[in-house]
Amino acid sequence: MTSQHDTKSPATTLDRLAEVRERIARAARDAGRDPKDVTLVCVSKTFPISEIMPVLEAGQLVFGENRVQEALEKWPSLKAGASHLELHLIGPLQSNKARDAVAFFDVIETVDRDKIARAIADEIQRCGRHPRLLVQVNTGAEPQKAGVLPEVADAFLETCRKTYGLEIAGLMCIPPVNDQASPHFALLNRIAARNGLTMLSMGMSGDFELAIQLGATHVRVGSAIFGAR
Ligand SMILES: *Cc1c(COP(=O)(O)O)cnc(C)c1O
Repeated sequence: MTSQHDTKSPATTLDRLAEVRERIARAARDAGRDPKDVTLVCVSKTFPISEIMPVLEAGQLVFGENRVQEALEKWPSLKAGASHLELHLIGPLQSNKARDAVAFFDVIETVDRDKIARAIADEIQRCGRHPRLLVQVNTGAEPQKAGVLPEVADAFLETCRKTYGLEIAGLMCIPPVNDQASPHFALLNRIAARNGLTMLSMGMSGDFELAIQLGATHVRVGSAIFGAR
């Protein structure tokens, strides 16, 4: 990664961060919600420590990364300077990375199959760390996309609870790029509601206001803050 990243000044990134925060607060108020009930997960994947640091120093303490390995390379030094940091894993998890994921992340948003649920449960037992867990739902039933299909989400949530003893806090989805996002957000909200789940991670740079209108408690925003990847 070269010039594209190097040419952006930190001030510009901080301006965009402030603007995104304002838009989140406005969308929450417009929906009759308390802005405090919507958390910005700042997605820092592909961006180097030097670009993340100013955002962290500006008081943004919740970040998302989509690869375990990349997070392990970037975040130990960043973590050292921030006590209340909350790191979210938002990308697909392989079972051989479950140990690192449970040890390192505060929230794992991509629980989506038995094998991963079991691996996470084993690691929680082993190391005694309890990251909050979300189940990813493939609301558009896209073959290439991770996540459980909507029609088996209830059964999978029950398996997580009963078979693996996992407490699931909520749901996450990534709507198909060419679809209207709102039916996907509404579907995720319904599945969460009927399963008594309170965390809803949905909405990205292009549609976070819509997601907030439809109940998102966490929006995952990358390029609207850091610029294009
Ligand atoms: C990259 C990514 C985001 C952020 O996307 P932007 O469009 O840059 O805001 C959100 N969620 C997931 C799962 C991602 O991989």
